[in-house]
Amino acid sequence: SRLVGAVADREDDAVEAALRPKSLAEFIGQHRVREQLDLVLKAARQREATADHILLSGAPGLGKTTLAMIVASEMAAPIRITSGPAIQHAGDLAAILSSLQEGEVLFLDEIHRMSRPAEEMLYMAMEDFRVDVIVGKGPGATAIPLELPPFTLVGATTRAGLLPPPLRDRFGFTAHMDFYESGDLEQVVHRSAGLLDVAVDPAGAAEIAGRSRGTPRIANRLLRRVRDYAQVRADGAVTSDIAAKALDVYEVDARGLDRLDRAVLSALLKLFGGGPVGLGTLSVAVGEERETVEEVAEPFLVREGLLARTPRGRIATPAAWTHLGLVPPQAQAN
Ligand code: ADP
Repeated sequence: SRLVGAVADREDDAVEAALRPKSLAEFIGQHRVREQLDLVLKAARQREATADHILLSGAPGLGKTTLAMIVASEMAAPIRITSGPAIQHAGDLAAILSSLQEGEVLFLDEIHRMSRPAEEMLYMAMEDFRVDVIVGKGPGATAIPLELPPFTLVGATTRAGLLPPPLRDRFGFTAHMDFYESGDLEQVVHRSAGLLDVAVDPAGAAEIAGRSRGTPRIANRLLRRVRDYAQVRADGAVTSDIAAKALDVYEVDARGLDRLDRAVLSALLKLFGGGPVGLGTLSVAVGEERETVEEVAEPFLVREGLLARTPRGRIATPAAWTHLGLVPPQAQAN
């Protein structure tokens, strides 16, 4: 588990529940998404109808679960939470759908990871509020149609492009969530610090926000580690100096890179002259699995403009040399 990983872990679960904004008004940043969602929900409320199905796409930790819960609370509706990988069989989905109450919000996280038969059942449920339950096996099997109460499906996925078009088309509204601006993340830090009763000055919040990879979940997690440091090594108050020292202890650098990210960059620069080098070779050099390097470290390095994936292999950008305080070979020759 990484301090800067965007995927939630056990420790996060409890704290996150406490830090979750409960209404659209409390939800920080994502102005466009908030405005669009506000219209969708207000209109449905005025018509006294169930809101249209909503698809949320965006990286882990950006607030998709939080928004799903907000949809439910703004509609004064109950919410059921499940995920694509948890639904292995169409029968699992039928059981959930048939137990929904009228107007209930069904949150389906990682909807792109649902099984094919469940997906097909979902098409019909979304469109006609009906499922066919198959009873029996082989030639004697019969499909029994089952009416469902109207409900709102809120699906979440890391990329809308991962969904088959027929599923994507059945959502009335799709919200794309971007990484957060640092100003918004500073607000997240201040809000969470208030709830956790930690004193953070503006420069301290900026320091934490700058290392949070545009992700509220990471900002909240770094804040907790900085709080520990401030409590044990200082008087509890978080300044920029305390935040920087604390995050140095946890090896999260000024740009949000952690030990693994820096190991990858450093191998690429020092062992392979900045590349191009194949993913397999690079992974061996840092002593990690290919998948770890490709899925955990690289996306952020690419997004930060530090590394590029080319058909000939991975290459470092000039910014990578600067970030690690090294001089590129051409510059050395001159
Ligand atoms: P996702 O479902 O996209 O992985 P979550 O909804 O679980 O992300 O959000 C992760 C954490 O970040 C939660 O604790 C939540 O409180 C916080 N968070 C996310 N978005 C916001 C936001 N816009 N404002 C304040 N806190 C947020």
